[in-house]
Amino acid sequence: MTPRYDAVVVGAGFGGMGAGIQLDRLGLRDFVIVEREDDLGGTWHVNRYPGLAVDIASVTYSYSFEPNPHWSRLFAPGAELKRYAEHVADKYDLRRRMRFGTVVDGARWDDEGQQWVVSIQGGETLTARYLLTATGFLSQPYTPPFPGIENFAGKIIHTTAWDDDYDLRGRRAAIIGTGATAVQLVPEVAARAAELTVFQRTPIWVVPKVDTPIPRPVQELFARVPLAQKAARLVNTSALELLMVAGVLHYREIKVGNKGAALLAKAHLRAQVRDPETRRKLTPDYDFGCKRPTFSNTYFKTFNEPHVRLETNSIDHLEADAIVTADGHRTEIDTLILATGFNLWDVNFPALEIIGREGRDLGKWWRDNRFQAYEGITVPKFPNFLSLNSPYSYSGLSYFTTIEAQMKHMNRLFGEMFRRGEHVFEVTEQANARFLDTVTDKLASSVFYDGDCATARSYYFNQHGEAALLRPNSTLTTHREAVTFPLDDYVYGAHAA
Ligand code: NAP
Repeated sequence: MTPRYDAVVVGAGFGGMGAGIQLDRLGLRDFVIVEREDDLGGTWHVNRYPGLAVDIASVTYSYSFEPNPHWSRLFAPGAELKRYAEHVADKYDLRRRMRFGTVVDGARWDDEGQQWVVSIQGGETLTARYLLTATGFLSQPYTPPFPGIENFAGKIIHTTAWDDDYDLRGRRAAIIGTGATAVQLVPEVAARAAELTVFQRTPIWVVPKVDTPIPRPVQELFARVPLAQKAARLVNTSALELLMVAGVLHYREIKVGNKGAALLAKAHLRAQVRDPETRRKLTPDYDFGCKRPTFSNTYFKTFNEPHVRLETNSIDHLEADAIVTADGHRTEIDTLILATGFNLWDVNFPALEIIGREGRDLGKWWRDNRFQAYEGITVPKFPNFLSLNSPYSYSGLSYFTTIEAQMKHMNRLFGEMFRRGEHVFEVTEQANARFLDTVTDKLASSVFYDGDCATARSYYFNQHGEAALLRPNSTLTTHREAVTFPLDDYVYGAHAA
């Protein structure tokens, strides 16, 4: 039985496109990238809220093999990321392999046919030798079940479903949530709405954003002398690496960096917010680094505006025209903006039902046996499956470091499999267990376990209190391991394990 495709890739964001590029390089050209949305770009297609911009400098937040000399700012706005994604899809001939509006219900390994059977909503099935899921980390929007939300008569907008046609002028708006999205959005909504109340449950550390336009001559230099942009990338990536390794992973040894960053954020707050009570409310009581830090020069200032109010009492329920807090206070609104983020741990690992050999259900197995994946990419009993958004896969601060390490891992793994004349691979239980032990040990000195994160409510932690998202080593190590992992960590051939 021959599968219809070499590979099915789920997700047409930067991760899925990187996987597609690597499949082409491996000669596995007959693949399809299925995408539930109506266009490519993942996060950068879905998120269109005002103020959206990247929070990793653009020289680094891009494929190293496809630099874009024309970023308009150090931190490019979201629309430029979307255009960059389109450019990559066209240049690497990915678009014709993409199918939009295609929702995958689930995938099952067919041991007899040595293939994946992928069920598409509506009844269609696709068969493929390999299955790669690139469904993102932050792709399942979360709406808290506020009592009475169904009775709210005004406009509700989740930040992942921004309504470009909705005019905020003259509105009495509420934003619920104060994560990275809200930090970008709050100043923009305040500039338009007549009244804005920001409902904060947990304050967030905010440091100044060193952002500036990239002048034309510099863009032209980057275009003419790619080495110049490479050098800029190296400098920026090294700085981020230092932040990640020292500030997050080696907190026990080098906590002075975190303390310094917290002091900087407090000084930033003092310089920007006049009212001491508001400042107190905006000051986190958990360590810097427990949550992904945010950058803004305008967020704090917004709370000085007379039409902007910070509400820290917890939300009790919603009524047709108001949010009522636990102290009984009614905030009348006509527009409710949910900056309430994403559900990572209940519905996203994995984002679809995946059944491997011997009927192993990936989601159930992860929940019953700890979240885990060898090198953050493969799982025992799941032959020919690459889970690109796995526990312990996110390496470094820019997602592109993870994507490119995974492309290297694919190269080594498939290269060896082809060399042996095989077309099936599966990671061994031993290799997977060894990797899980290593990351668990290394995480002990990270800010997540050694710092004070109890009140952070950080999505880095799962429902069991484990910080199972970030891979606890330098990106250099991740990239080195992607090209040197022991080849016998996998078995190759039909009925591999
Ligand atoms: P988030 O960090 O998960 O923030 C969600 C917010 O909603 C939190 O403040 C949370 O409060 C609040 N919330 C959730 N449930 C609530 C409830 N029942 N009652 C009251 N408040 C509730 O989500 P996000 O802001 O969308 O950011 C997610 C990630 O996306 C970021 O960390 C970042 O990695 C990425 N991002 C990147 C950029 C960029 O610049 N490239 C921009 C935006 C986002 P608690 O903290 O109390 O739970």
